[in-house]
Amino acid sequence: MNFLQLNDNQLIKQANYLNGRWQVSNKFITVSNPANGVELGTIPVIDKLALEQTITAAQEAFDTYSKTNSYKRSEWLLKWYDLILSAQDDLAKILTQEQGKPLAEAKGEILYAASFIKWFAEQINADYGLTLNSPVDNKQFHTHKQAIGVAALITPWNFPAAMITRKAAAALAAGCSIIIKPSELTPFTAIALVELAHRAGFQKGVINLVTGNAPMIGDALCHDQRVKKLSFTGSTPVGQKLFAQSATSLKRLSLELGGNAPFIIFADADLDAAVDALMISKFRNNGQTCVAANRIYVDQNLQQAFLTKLKAKLPSLTVGNGMDKNVQLGPLINQAAVDKVHDLVASAISAGAKLEYQADLNESNSPFFPVTLLVDITPNMPIAQKEIFGPVLAVQWFDEETEVITRANSTDAGLAAYFFSDNIHRCQRVAGALDYGMIGINDGMVSNAVSPFGGIKQSGLGREGGHTGLAEYQYIKAHCYGQLS
Ligand code: ADP
Repeated sequence: MNFLQLNDNQLIKQANYLNGRWQVSNKFITVSNPANGVELGTIPVIDKLALEQTITAAQEAFDTYSKTNSYKRSEWLLKWYDLILSAQDDLAKILTQEQGKPLAEAKGEILYAASFIKWFAEQINADYGLTLNSPVDNKQFHTHKQAIGVAALITPWNFPAAMITRKAAAALAAGCSIIIKPSELTPFTAIALVELAHRAGFQKGVINLVTGNAPMIGDALCHDQRVKKLSFTGSTPVGQKLFAQSATSLKRLSLELGGNAPFIIFADADLDAAVDALMISKFRNNGQTCVAANRIYVDQNLQQAFLTKLKAKLPSLTVGNGMDKNVQLGPLINQAAVDKVHDLVASAISAGAKLEYQADLNESNSPFFPVTLLVDITPNMPIAQKEIFGPVLAVQWFDEETEVITRANSTDAGLAAYFFSDNIHRCQRVAGALDYGMIGINDGMVSNAVSPFGGIKQSGLGREGGHTGLAEYQYIKAHCYGQLS
């Protein structure tokens, strides 16, 4: 294990967490730092038998854990929350070294991740069923909420902490046992979080963590009838595959899939505020978020003012190893990601887009990508149709509100959308007309533990966080009492 500057080296285990114990395997995967290729450690490739035993353990743990009262579950969660806050420096260093984002941003993610644990620890004690007014004199109807069962949580590499806690905290609060399958590119943040959960005292089998061959693990979890819930965050093609694989077990699904967020700046916007928000929306995690501003629409009449303000900000974005001070943008996750962004930029330019700005990186063939600003993008270019997942601003111009709404909605994705306008009537109109699960109105960052996160169309199913987050891990049971006098 090769992580630098940790106070508590015990947070790193090169193992899976199965039924309350850290377990190694004789097959493993190597994990590297995307900024410099340094090998950080190895993680197990779980085999079918061990996975099967893990599901059995999770099922057994569910039988007792789901019956503990909510105050007890809330206490475990709050203990876990406290331990995460105490270990936040180490967690951020682990996250930066395996994922690449700058240390300050990594710490922001750890706090954001922790906020879900606190949120659901509080939500569950305020949760309740109903007594229904009965239309029949000698009957009573009640509803109860019950934990759905074993929940499988499959998470991506771009938010290695928050994507886990957003699912795990809701599931654990509701009374589910969980099997976490983090991305094999960023497993050590997950491992450290699970080690802290172990220290918080959750019973054995309630929390499990597996790594290895993702398609094999996904297939086994989807087909197993004992796994009652699958929550997945990742790409749309993999989400569709998991949806299909879950058909035979009729599993409850939450799917947080890809986006293609429009970011619209109307002529009546506060342009300074819009450009500031665009910088955050675009460059958080070096553009590698599913809610990043992907298609930037700017009113024709703002062209010059917009470009002047934006271009003044771009040179200050320092690219480098996220562990170094004063770095704002880390590497992309791997060379394939760099190549993909490069191809999107090249094909846009060859189709007529104008390269308005590109930073000088001095590093060819590196995992870093230069900050890039393209204008005159048209809807048929791949860069306007796919998630860029890199530090590239792709700007389109528009003339009218109805036209830009049509263009913004003409995509299969429906996750996040943003727009800026100082006209309250337009704000209400446009917010209603955009076909997206989350709308930022004069805001570039919509995620918060209190607010439901999720999309429509090909961006997925279900909502995480917010006041409905628990319901994703519960079913409603109706009790009907008869023969009453
Ligand atoms: P990304 O492009 O963001 O890596 P993926 O959808 O490929 O998105 O990966 C998201 C998560 O899904 C990761 O944990 C990955 O290992 C996992 N994954 C990838 N393919 C499969 C699959 N066939 N079945 C189950 N999980 C998968």
